[in-house]
Amino acid sequence: MTSEHAARTDAEVDVLVVGAGFAGMYMIHKARSMGLTVHAIEAGGDVGGTWYWNRYPGARCDVESLDYSYGFSPELLEEWTWSERFAAQPEILRYIDHVADRFDLRSDIEFDTRVTSAHFDDATDRWAVGTDTGSTWTARFCVMATGCLSLSYVPPFAGLDRFEGRTLHTGRWPHEPVDFTGQRVGVIGTGSSGIQVIPEIARQAGELFVFQRTPNFTLPARNGPVSEALLAERMADYAGYKRTALTTTPSAIGIQHPPLGDAASAAQPDEREAEFERRWDIGGNILLGAYRDVLLDADSNELVGEFVRRKIRSIVHDPDVAALLSPTDHHIGTKRICVDTDYYETFNRPNVRLVDVRSDPIEGFSETALVTAGHRYDLDVVVFATGYDAMTGPLMNIDVRGRGGVGIAETWEHGPATYLGLGVHGYPNLFIVAGPGSPSVRVNVIAAIEQHVDWIGDCIAHLEAQGIATIEPTAEAQDGWVRHVADLADATLFGGSSSWYSGSNIDGKPRVFAPYVGGMPAYIAECDAVVAAGYAGFTAAGDTAKVPAGTPR
Ligand code: NAP
Repeated sequence: MTSEHAARTDAEVDVLVVGAGFAGMYMIHKARSMGLTVHAIEAGGDVGGTWYWNRYPGARCDVESLDYSYGFSPELLEEWTWSERFAAQPEILRYIDHVADRFDLRSDIEFDTRVTSAHFDDATDRWAVGTDTGSTWTARFCVMATGCLSLSYVPPFAGLDRFEGRTLHTGRWPHEPVDFTGQRVGVIGTGSSGIQVIPEIARQAGELFVFQRTPNFTLPARNGPVSEALLAERMADYAGYKRTALTTTPSAIGIQHPPLGDAASAAQPDEREAEFERRWDIGGNILLGAYRDVLLDADSNELVGEFVRRKIRSIVHDPDVAALLSPTDHHIGTKRICVDTDYYETFNRPNVRLVDVRSDPIEGFSETALVTAGHRYDLDVVVFATGYDAMTGPLMNIDVRGRGGVGIAETWEHGPATYLGLGVHGYPNLFIVAGPGSPSVRVNVIAAIEQHVDWIGDCIAHLEAQGIATIEPTAEAQDGWVRHVADLADATLFGGSSSWYSGSNIDGKPRVFAPYVGGMPAYIAECDAVVAAGYAGFTAAGDTAKVPAGTPR
């Protein structure tokens, strides 16, 4: 869509928001409800963020629809109806569109515009924000709602620029449907995106080559219409359900299937197997919650991992292919678990071939082919399902400079460091929504986003009430938080795991396990305690008298 909000130069607002996905949209609404002026800048042509870009066939949320929605407005909760248990991307985008219309959010969003710089001016306590269209803005508060999975990653394959076939990335999918009929298609990558797109392309393509370096665990979604009984239960008190889920369950998703016991390894084998089977049949990721210690204890975890490997062997006809699809290099759930429809079944199709690029690595591309050390695969289309420069990439892709002109690339040279996942020492009045060090991607991310935005709103209100110009974390508080986040991960099987959670999917990226894995209730308690202690761990500075005369307030 065309931007309704004209690009401007040197305009000033209270709050400048970067990004108009779930986080940016709610931040706009929040700022307005506080009487603040707000402007958001969005690289995409419309609202939606990740869901705007990820239009690949099969794109679907792995959190159930009745949980994957905003909770801030009881009316909004009541008026929207989801058609499927796990909503597909078009339906999620329709929901996002509805929210944007309902709260008239687009009138404060500048679309098709990428923020290129955000510099803090020590003299005026203002953020100066520049864009690729030449528009510039100044603001007291800069909120980075840039997303965790918004900067697509394509590995630097030799010769890719000379490949004459079509190339696509799942995270930058065209708006028009792509017709694979009769084509020779290659998909590189078998994470959540690859695992969703592969069965869809397989149904169309003449031949599909799946280039797998590392197999991932995936669980069947068993998608279908939203159950009438569950819908009725939710609608009876949807807002109450959301509140309870946020404050009492680690994932901020209500627990429909409580764990059967504490330790999988201590359970009776028959009973355990029956419970695993029951959860496999219900579908979604609930298998990981069968026992409380699945993500804590290696032996218990292995029981779940081996259960899934047995399932793979029972579904995939060719034992060699089944073996290649069976993960053995990580504990199940320590990489984001995938949720699929017909993934393993797809490898029984005659037009699908699994290529192990661990043993025969991709060397690069010729004009017509993907070339491995030992083979050459002639292709019409290559689909990169190769993931993202996650968590830090979207922020570091912007020239963000804090006090004294110090840049975020320097500050995070050895890995991301934040306090509460919300602020960075040296970057006054800069807030991150769902940043590294927040629970974000390890919980229902929309619930996390709403909690972060509410916290940021309360913090801004506090500054306004006290006449304080700036706030930023102290170096000590930030160091403590970084240690705390690492300790939490180390107390689980996540410690030392390799995936985009820790930056290890990108060569040369510092390895820091970024998400907070203590769960939402513990995180909320930590955030609330900081506030109750007068924003402990933050320094407030100056007073708002620094505001130049005539500045809109
Ligand atoms: P990903 O999980 O990072 O997977 C990237 C894939 O590309 C991996 O299989 C990786 O192999 C492969 N790859 C990367 N570089 C390669 C190379 N040089 N040669 C061969 N293979 C290479 O990315 P994603 O699948 O886009 O998923 C990212 C996250 O987005 C998910 O974990 C999930 O949180 C979210 N997501 C969610 C949904 C959903 O809600 N259902 C759907 C899609 C995405 P290696 O493992 O060997 O590195």
